This record gives sequence, structure tokens and C-alpha cells, in this order.
Amino acid sequence: MQPEILAEVPTGLTKATLDPADWTELRAQSHLMLDDMLNYIEDIRTRPVWQPIPQSVRSTFHEGVPAQPTALTEVHEIFMQNILPYSAGNIHPGFMGWVQGGGTPVGMVAEMLAAGLNANVGGRDQMPVELEKQVVQWVRELFDFPETASGLFVTGTSMANLISVLVARTSALGVKVREKGLTASDKRLVAYTSSGAHGCIAQAIDLSGLGTHALRLIPMNDDFQMNLNALQHAIVEDRAAGLTPFFIAATAGTVDVGAIDNLDAIADIAQKEKIWFHIDGAYGALAILAPEIAPRLTGIQRADSIAFDFHKWGQVPYDAGFILIRDGKLHHDTFAAPSSYLRRETRGMAAGSPWPCDFGPDLSRGFRALKTWFTIKVYGTDKIGSVISDTCKLAQYLKKCVEINSSLELLAPVSLNIVCFRFRCNNSDLMNIDEINANIVLDLQESGIVAPSTTTINGCLAIRAAIVNHRTSTYEIDALIKATIDFGEVYLNRSHE
Ligand SMILES: *Cc1c(COP(=O)(O)O)cnc(C)c1O
Repeated sequence: MQPEILAEVPTGLTKATLDPADWTELRAQSHLMLDDMLNYIEDIRTRPVWQPIPQSVRSTFHEGVPAQPTALTEVHEIFMQNILPYSAGNIHPGFMGWVQGGGTPVGMVAEMLAAGLNANVGGRDQMPVELEKQVVQWVRELFDFPETASGLFVTGTSMANLISVLVARTSALGVKVREKGLTASDKRLVAYTSSGAHGCIAQAIDLSGLGTHALRLIPMNDDFQMNLNALQHAIVEDRAAGLTPFFIAATAGTVDVGAIDNLDAIADIAQKEKIWFHIDGAYGALAILAPEIAPRLTGIQRADSIAFDFHKWGQVPYDAGFILIRDGKLHHDTFAAPSSYLRRETRGMAAGSPWPCDFGPDLSRGFRALKTWFTIKVYGTDKIGSVISDTCKLAQYLKKCVEINSSLELLAPVSLNIVCFRFRCNNSDLMNIDEINANIVLDLQESGIVAPSTTTINGCLAIRAAIVNHRTSTYEIDALIKATIDFGEVYLNRSHE
């Protein structure tokens, strides 16, 4: 039966609504806003990477809750003047601080479409859920996982790592852990990761109720990879002490230096010891798309779970984290919670069970899959792979520049796209070498030219350039080298005075 559909939008409704009275005006204003952002991205090179926020701008945002309306044009103007110029700058080609993606105009407009649809991708019979399943299928294909593997978009790798720990916990203790907690079993679980692992692994162990004392930080070898003898030794020791090893988190692309653990060898150990093998591939896992780097990820296909972000090397706008789990049933059984108001049907809107909300803690979920799907469809994985390769080539270029420059020194091997180096100098009366390098980084950030960050390598403070952004070129690398030396020399001269 065809229902009657209104031929025209009814007029004269008096109830409150948030739609505009004048769509023509809103349309014109919307086009302006879209153009402003496209201009912003197109002209990003003419702006500083970052600039300090003036106090006057900060204080604009200390007002009370507005009960009365403000015109959209006016609010947009506030955005242009006081918000847009003062973001952290990760879309800028000179941004090399931390590991952050640059986003794309395609991702941006896809976000607009997703917001217009306002899909809640927790579940129900709708194409947005099907689209997420399409991306899950692509991810399975990339990592050679079986059809029975499950996948889910999440905020980021921090959440993805937490989910993997929870599923591994179910695997070790059984689903009764969901009701009885850790007292469900006498087993005392212990987990392993390298001392170069991201802090969110320890956080995941903490949040899972195991406590961070249950995490062994295995030392690294000279290449900043997990030391496998030490791992094997720790497992043997823990078993001898009556503990139950249950989880090994390897890293594909450490956040400090970009090292890739020996995944295949860790897979062997995990298999032999019957321990869950997880990979934190936050940014590195997508190197599977770059033919010359992919072989170094060998073993990733053997993982029980992989956590990674589309918002880093994948250049999808924030946020777009992902968790892939080999045993989809165990993943489902770790999170699914039947409730009367979420009843499933075989037809109608409540069909299509299981739903994404059955695979993680979020019920309401945004349409992260759309911007990811657009990005992959529009650019294709070959192009994204080339972007990834090129950031690694730039890192090699930066490494060479550091090596041929007598006032600079390299502090860690350059395995992927991260270069850790420092300005050479002797400790002065005023500052030691670490303080000078820390100040150089602050000067660089405040200059707006390029923005690296810092880390500590073998006890030394390093200038850390993580090249993730697809816009970065040799121009920014040259600028980094020149500005580092210029700022460094100011400190040298100051201490000679
Ligand atoms: C960035 C990163 C994380 C954290 O990911 P988020 O998306 O920021 O939550 C975890 N591990 C590694 C290796 C990372 O580079």
C-alpha cells in the first residue's frame, strides 16, 4: 500500500523548529562557508603552521550560555576570526609534530554529507550500516583476514586497543567475565608489549580491570623493536610464578621512532604459547598499501586483532579509528547486550542483526564509514599507498640532510617516516643540550614555519619530525633544517657571550 505523501511542504506551522525560515538565505550562507574552508585548505601554505592564541581571543570564549539567537553569518564570522586561525595546524604541510593526518578536501565534503544525513550508525536496516560493512570487508581483504572476522569504526586506536584487550580477556576467562568480573576465574592474567609501545596500551590494561602491574614492558633492541628473547623469558618466568600470559601487543610503527616489531616472529611465539596476538598498527598498519613497505609488515596477517587509524596515514579527517578482530563471534559475545528497546526483527527497520553496537561500547555512533569510503573510492588505495611511500622517502631525505650537516646529529634509525635528531652543542652555563633542543622546538613551533615535536631517545631529548601529512614536501624539510640551525646558533652565540 502506498501511503499518501504531501505534495507540498505545509505552511503556517507555528511550532518551534530549528530549520530556517528562509532557505535561500541559508543556502547562500552555506555556500560561503564551504568556499571559506576550501580556500583555507587551498591556501594553507600561506599561513603559519600554528600561532599562539592571543589572550583577547581566548577571553571571547568565556561568555555565559546564550539564551538568545545570534545570526549564522555572525557566528560564522567569529569562527573565521577566532577559531580557524588558531587550530594545531595538522593540515599544514609544515606540521611534523606527533603523528597526525592532514585530512583532505574530499574527506571534508564527505563529512558534510554525513552530517546532513545525521545517520546514527549504531544499527538498524539502513545503507550507512551496509557501507560500514563494505569498509569492514575491505579491511579484511587488506590484511588477509577471513570472512568471519569482525570490524568496527571507533574514535581512534586508543579505543581500538581497549576493545582488543577486552575481547582477549573474554577469550582467556570466558564470557562469564562479563558478569563476574575478574573474579570469574582464579587465573591472574598478564600482558606483554615493548617499552616503545604507545601509552594507551597500558591504559587499556588499566581500564580492563587488570591493572597496569599486569603489563610487562619488554625492552627493545638497537632497532627499537621488542626484544624477542626478553619476551620469551618474561613469559616463562610468569608461567613459573603461576600467572597466565594472555595478550601480546606488538607495534607496527612505534610512535617515537616508527619502528616495526618483528611481527612474524612474535606471531610464532604467540602461537606456540597460545597467547592472543594483537598489533597496534595505529599509523603503520596502512603501510600495507605501499608495495615497498608492505613486506616489512609480514606477520600482520596472523594477528588475532589489529588496531589502526584511518585518520593518520590514511588522511581521513578525524576521527576514524578501526578495530579488526579475527574471531568475530568472540568479539560479538564480548559486547552484545540484549535489551527490550533494542529488539531485533527479521524485517522492518530493526532488521539486519548483528548491529555495529553489538561490537563495542558505543550505542549511538556517527557515520565515520562515509568519509573513509569516499577517501578510498575517490583516491584509490594505490594513491594512498604512494602518499605513504613518499612520506617515508621524505624522512630518508631529512635523514640525509641531518647526516651531511655537521651541526646536526641523528638519534635513532629511520625505519619509516619519523626522524629523531638534534642540534649539536656543548652544555653551556645557561642551558644543557637537552634544554637547547627543547627550546629550538618551541622556537620552531612559535615561528609558524614548521612544527616538529620532541621525544626522549636513550635519555637524550630529540627533535622529532613525524612526516604523515600528504602535503609535506622537500620544501618543508629544507625549511626545518635551516630554521633548526638558525635557532640553534642563537643559543650557541648567547652562551659564548
Ligand atoms: C597515535 C597512536 C596511538 C593512539 O591512537 P589515537 O587514534 O590517537 O587514539 C596508539 N598507538 C600508536 C603507535 C600511535 O601512533
